[in-house]
Amino acid sequence: MDLSPSAVRTRRLLSGRASRPNLRTFKPPGGHVTAKAAAETYGLDLSRLCKAIDAGALPGQSHEVAGSHRVHTVLESALADYLASRPQCAYEGCERRATLASDACGGPHARALETKGTKRPGETCRKISAGKKGKPRPDVRKRVAEMHADPEQHFRWHLRLMEGRKVTGAALRQALERAGTALTEALRRRRGGAPSKRELHARWLSMFNGEDVELEELIGDDPKRRVRTIAWLDWQRHPEDWPRQKWPASRFDPEDIEPNLLPAARERVKKALQNLRKKPIFP
Ligand SMILES: [Zn+2]
Repeated sequence: MDLSPSAVRTRRLLSGRASRPNLRTFKPPGGHVTAKAAAETYGLDLSRLCKAIDAGALPGQSHEVAGSHRVHTVLESALADYLASRPQCAYEGCERRATLASDACGGPHARALETKGTKRPGETCRKISAGKKGKPRPDVRKRVAEMHADPEQHFRWHLRLMEGRKVTGAALRQALERAGTALTEALRRRRGGAPSKRELHARWLSMFNGEDVELEELIGDDPKRRVRTIAWLDWQRHPEDWPRQKWPASRFDPEDIEPNLLPAARERVKKALQNLRKKPIFP
């Protein structure tokens, strides 16, 4: 066989391989986005998304590109519709939508369902999703952003959240105390007071030390999730300490942190906790 560069090029041209795009030059077909881009935009697990495409659960394709690589693409409009029509998260009291190929909104709730088994009965889930089908999604993102910006409104939202999660007993007492402290703090800041880092770090430390009942329920028996879940929960509870310009909400779920920022949020909490351990802590 003639192995000279020109002969190889000619053979490639004849076999059609010369025109095949590579990973860098590949362009998704019209209306499609690559699964990788979609996973980032919507905060989805990439391998799950590819599996759903391969299984035909979502309109998409698997393309072969040069170098024996494969690129998955998905019809973006169909993916957005699919995600918007997912039933409510099966974790009791959670108002968010279940994510791709899961009956939970993701992260801590999927895990909490595994460990706790506090699932809505299937019948309730079906009723909720039937009631929501075909209705336009309200612009929750805007509403929630406004709510987070106003301390009193946020306080009331926090109480409703507790009610929705059916928090009772010690957990409820804690939640009420927390909401009260957060409101006082936020009002002080609105009057121009400096944010209190000490208070913030003391709060994370108490969560780290297992003094937060709701957190403990979410973590279950997996200590590796602790710091990440502290960040996740604290972002929800304390927008004043997680300014939304710097720590925006997920594009898909305005009541959840942007998934790509979760590692950085975890890092922020971890660093603060590490610093606290180096310093003596005064009550
Ligand atoms: Zn949930």
